[in-house]
Amino acid sequence: MTLTKTALAPEVAAIMGRLGVSADRYTGGTLAVTSPVNGEKIADAAQISSGDASDVIAKSHQAFLAWRLVPAPKRGELIRLFGEELRAHKADLGRLVSIEVGKITSEGLGEVQEMIDICDFAVGLSRQLYGLTIATERADHRMMETWHPLGVVGIISAFNFPVAVWAWNAALALVAGNACVWKPSEKTPLTAIAAHAIFDKALKRFVAEGGQAPAALSQLLIGGRDVGEVLVDDPKVALVSATGSTAMGRIVGPKLAARFARAILELGGNNAAIVCPTADLDLTLRGVAFAAMGTAGQRCTTLRRLFVHDSVYDQLVPRLIKAYGSVTIGNPLETGTLVGPLIDKGSFDRMQKALADAKANGGTVHGGDRVHEADAPNAYYVRPALVEMPAQCGPVEHETFAPILYVMKYSNFDDALELNNAVPQGLSSSIFTNNMREAEAFVSARGSDCGIANVNIGPSGAEIGGAFGGEKETGGGRESGSDAWKGYMRRATNTINYGASLPLAQGVKFDV
Ligand code: NAD
Repeated sequence: MTLTKTALAPEVAAIMGRLGVSADRYTGGTLAVTSPVNGEKIADAAQISSGDASDVIAKSHQAFLAWRLVPAPKRGELIRLFGEELRAHKADLGRLVSIEVGKITSEGLGEVQEMIDICDFAVGLSRQLYGLTIATERADHRMMETWHPLGVVGIISAFNFPVAVWAWNAALALVAGNACVWKPSEKTPLTAIAAHAIFDKALKRFVAEGGQAPAALSQLLIGGRDVGEVLVDDPKVALVSATGSTAMGRIVGPKLAARFARAILELGGNNAAIVCPTADLDLTLRGVAFAAMGTAGQRCTTLRRLFVHDSVYDQLVPRLIKAYGSVTIGNPLETGTLVGPLIDKGSFDRMQKALADAKANGGTVHGGDRVHEADAPNAYYVRPALVEMPAQCGPVEHETFAPILYVMKYSNFDDALELNNAVPQGLSSSIFTNNMREAEAFVSARGSDCGIANVNIGPSGAEIGGAFGGEKETGGGRESGSDAWKGYMRRATNTINYGASLPLAQGVKFDV
């Protein structure tokens, strides 16, 4: 380990320089940014005041009024250019994600790849924002639905996917004809500034090539919760897509409902997997290890609960405990590392508290201890914890945003299914089985109640082609693929009479 010897601030400055970001954006401001890699302060980002945030939203609304008139495939051209710019700057942005959030190199790059993928998806979508033509009961009439831009879309994002979540939302919102205002996590302003600088490059190219796009089409608000609140409260913001904890959603959701604004809520998860008697245990081991330990347990889709059939428990769980004991934990910037640091001390403290609660509830804890403390006293590296629990109780029922996997035995499939669904969150889930009846039951109406239900892969991660999101306390929102774009547009039903009479629906007579 060379944690304290790694000076990250000069590298941040070099990356920002290559992206054309002026130093005053991230030095001399009031928002201190610390890298979880070694605890080093790497920047002081400039923040916006709540008052100035309102002005930004007003400009965004003006931008919307112009952008909605640009034909959708032309809007798609802007996103095509954005995808090109992301490809050109993938290495720098991926590296910055690793420095600011502590993701291992392949995951930092993978996050940028997700941004590229959603751009490709959105470009295709820009020619497919179509509605239905619907049979009408009236002669010489046609009924159809059309999809129109919605307005200003506010995007609030969490620290753990500091740039991809913005891109999932912005790429769709922009091809849909909206303007965007983004409030990233206060823990990750640098990646936000960098990602937005890359977008600005695309916007400049678009305009240079003759495209009509207002300068305020996409804007960035660096700040804390108070700035997020401005977005939530401003009547000019038609939709807020908010990603973060359920605690945040509990405040934001009712506020949006009170002013009848649209909401896409992507909140906490408490994801489970069921390992059945016929499971391929080699495949299961790899699937569980990545889903539970990857990203140091800091994905909304991280595997947190594992139900193992008692006939395979003794074959699988000792192997898992061994994998937990030998996984490489350390500097995420070094090749070969699989588990990087937790985001900060608060996260470490919450993990230790959950482990103490688990013990108090009869759990046997393997791992969970702090590592590399001497080398990096201000960074928080932990050995992922596997906890054998006698039952689903105590901390198992809550999301602790850290690498803790609670393992429980089951003997009856229906009981396991019930336990899968018996928590307040409903994001992701999976089953490992080669039994067709179990697999199909799991994805059926009587199966998993989550927004994502997988077979023979872990619950974590997702491809952008599918709609992403979850039920219950996860918030119910959907982003990314499938028809999630409809959430960013308003639907109008149009009935057109091309005849000379005026028949009323349902045979109603009203002759004046
Ligand atoms: P967080 O809730 O602390 O913060 C998320 C964002 O919300 C930040 O930008 C924050 O400033 C803002 N915010 C907080 N309170 C607000 C308020 N009252 N009004 C407006 N904005 C407010 O979450 P975090 O610690 O950054 O992220 C981890 C959490 O996010 C976990 O619970 C994780 O499961 C969840 N998450 C969910 C998804 C998903 O798609 N379901 C994806 C990533 C993360």
